[in-house]
This record gives sequence, C-alpha cells and structure tokens, in this order.
Amino acid sequence: MPGSLLIAGRRGIGKQRLALWLGQLLLCTGEGERPCGKCPSCRYSAELVHPDLRWFFPRPRLASPDPTAQEILDDQADAVRARVADFGLYPPPSGTDAIFVATVRALVQFAAYSPSIARRKVIVVGDAERMVPQEGADQAANAFLKLLEEPPADTTIILTSSEPGSLLPTIRSRVVFVRVAPLPDPSVAEFLNDPHVSKALSQLDLPPSENERIALAAGAPGTLLGVTASGEAMKTARSMLDAVAGSRADRIRAAFALSSAGARGGFSELLDALTVALHARIRDASTSGEASAGERAGRAIDLVEGAKLRANGNVNPQLIASAMIRAMSDL
Ligand SMILES: [Zn+2]
Repeated sequence: MPGSLLIAGRRGIGKQRLALWLGQLLLCTGEGERPCGKCPSCRYSAELVHPDLRWFFPRPRLASPDPTAQEILDDQADAVRARVADFGLYPPPSGTDAIFVATVRALVQFAAYSPSIARRKVIVVGDAERMVPQEGADQAANAFLKLLEEPPADTTIILTSSEPGSLLPTIRSRVVFVRVAPLPDPSVAEFLNDPHVSKALSQLDLPPSENERIALAAGAPGTLLGVTASGEAMKTARSMLDAVAGSRADRIRAAFALSSAGARGGFSELLDALTVALHARIRDASTSGEASAGERAGRAIDLVEGAKLRANGNVNPQLIASAMIRAMSDL
C-alpha cells in the first residue's frame, strides 16, 4: 500500500466505506484472511472506535473561532457516532460543511503521534475536495502537503473524492490515484435489500419498485440517500427543467443562476436532483401514455450523466450547465 492514496469515483458508490475497510485491513491483528472481523482491532474498527483509525469529513464550522485539536477530534467523533447510529447511511455533506484549517491542523498533529494500540494508524479523509485553503494558514497547508508526500512509516492516509478535479493540484500530485467504478446492478440490489437500508429508504420519496430504484442509483446507491435529502436541489432542478422548455433568455438565466465559485458540492447535488426529477417525468409519461415525453426524459438523463462525468474534471459548472441545458432544449 502506498503511504497516501486518493480513492476517486462517483458520489455514492462507497468510497469512504472502502477506505474504512482498508483501514480495518491494515490494523487487523488476526491470522489468515484479513480483515478477520474477529480480532479486537477489527471489532473496534467496525464500530469506528479504534483509536488508531481516524475518519475526517466535512463538518459545519465550530462556534469557537480558533478551536483546539481536541475540540476538533471530539466534534468529529460525535459526527462519526451519529453515522454509526444510522448504520453508515448518510447524505452528502451540506453546501457549507467543509474541512477547515483547524481540522487539517488536528489531522497533522494526530499523524505525528505514535499509534495507541495498533502498530500503525490510518487516517481517512472523506470528500477531500472540501478542504478549504484559508488566508494566513499556509503553515497548516504546508504541513499537510508534507504529510501527504512523506507520511510517517506507521501512517497511511486515504483521501476520497467524488470531484478530484476540484482538489488542489498540490494535493493531487502527492497521492496515488485509485479510481473506483460504479457498482454493478446486482450489488446495488443486494445493498438495497439490506434491512437497514430499505428502512432508511422507506422514509424517502423514492420510486417504490426495486427496478426503478436500481435504475435511479445508476451504480451509486448512496445517491438515493442524498438526492431527496435536499429539497433545495430538487427545487432548482425543477425550475431548470421548466427553463429548458422556456425561452432562450430563461435558459441562459437558469445556467448562470449557478454561481461558478464554490458551488461544486451543490452542483453535483443538483445533477443528482435532475436525475430524480427526470425519472419522475418518465413515470408520469408512462402513466399518461405519452411515450415520446418519456423517451425525451430518458435522453435528458443521459445528458445529465454526461454532465456528471464532466463535473469530475476541472470544468466550470456554468459551462457544463449551459451546454447541458442547450442540448436538453434541442430534445
Ligand atoms: Zn482482524
């Protein structure tokens, strides 16, 4: 295993889950096939209470203007407990959640300590593109880059990102890229049939049939938890689809309503919401027997999927959105 790696791939395919599993594997003390799932280390890892496995991800800014490392670790531990209580099922971070400088400092400090009970330690950083550079915090940023470049021999750092194009080039150049593919449909079906998952999804406004849910997930079942979590994204998606049918001025306004700066998290959420809204149109079309409307919505979903792929690169969301809206209005 390289000392620092980046797991990249679409949102909702289980990148952070995979990173945590790798952490469990690296810390396992069992014999034979690892992770054994039985040794104390594996049990701690599975419950996410292993002191040598730390999981960082975007959080709301803490009230204190200059939080201590301990305050950061406590906040992160609370958030991890909440995710464990929800069986590891959580929506994408909200638009204002981020990995702030205080967190980067706490992370760098954690990496400098010796492991508590294992022979090594593992740091997982989810949604790493949400690390915000901050004026006057060059020292923390440089310490983090140095950590990525040369992690201590007993430390593994695993970043995950669904928008690796938004990562700072200085970060990208210091990690080994591992691209993970969307899940095949049978794996998605297996995931959806998990009792905890189906209970969580039953509280959301999703198509009732399993086949429709599998189609909607498109290999990334985690997105099913996210899309309906944001009423705001659904609202924007619906008004964008109305604009597609409207005048040229409406379409331009819809594309440029998306601010180009700092909207990447929000942009991928919007694209997911568009997929859901278009699937709803397909359902309505098949109920009312309007085959051609359903077919157009299906082709529009392909355009959204194309936009999702481009959004992974370092392309301005407005450019992607205006090209997508133009292509949709041609339909
Ligand atoms: Zn084990």
